[in-house]
Amino acid sequence: MTSARDWGRPWGPDPAGGWSGWLGRAHLWFTGRVGGVSAPPFATLNLSRHVRDLPAAVAENRRRAASRGAPTADAVWGRLIHGANVAWLGPDAATGPGPVADGLLTAEPGLTIAMTFADCVPIWLASRVAPVGGLLHAGWRGTVRGMARAGVEAVLARGVPPESVDAVIGPSIGPCCYEVGPEVVDAVASLDLGPGLVDARRHLDLWETNRRLLHRAGVPEERILVTGLCTACHPEWFFSHRREGGRTGRNGGFFRMDPA
Ligand SMILES: [Zn+2]
Repeated sequence: MTSARDWGRPWGPDPAGGWSGWLGRAHLWFTGRVGGVSAPPFATLNLSRHVRDLPAAVAENRRRAASRGAPTADAVWGRLIHGANVAWLGPDAATGPGPVADGLLTAEPGLTIAMTFADCVPIWLASRVAPVGGLLHAGWRGTVRGMARAGVEAVLARGVPPESVDAVIGPSIGPCCYEVGPEVVDAVASLDLGPGLVDARRHLDLWETNRRLLHRAGVPEERILVTGLCTACHPEWFFSHRREGGRTGRNGGFFRMDPA
């Protein structure tokens, strides 16, 4: 069986073009900015239709990402609002724009979940004993609103044991680059997760915050993988909302379970 430790194998002709990995039978992908056709400030592999990029360029970028393995074509795309709502996708879920929710989960092998990111934290969840899992989107708002906990609780409500759940915290803005205001510091402090989440420069560690939230919701510590890839530190690989001052493209996160 493959595990979260397989995360990080490059796919496609350009190793900087994206990452993929497996959690049991769940396949995870993350695409960056390399290998597309969009012009600045969306250069080049922008996958979002909601950042004023040319629709034809986004369509070509999605086609190119699909040709390298990321399942853009038949995906259900989360409509993200920085909340903590979870939506379940059943066998009748239509591809294209999906429910308005920052957490999309499914028990359907073959169904593809997609979301776009540019610093916010992607969190993949998957059980090793049942086909249950999905993808969460957590910036600081989603983090303090409890996206990670809501996602884990929804998975556990399907009857899978907590010790069977794996989680991956994917490429997103790291504590190296994420200076926040006092209101964010206060909101994180209200989670009561212990010290060490904000440093003296007021840099917030969203990875560790979400790691502790996942663990508190029931995921064993040894089953949580933090990839440690900072989107702001790697302009050659990733779009970063913070680094680019808000005008930039979007990275892509994907989840799909293989049939048994
Ligand atoms: Zn960084």
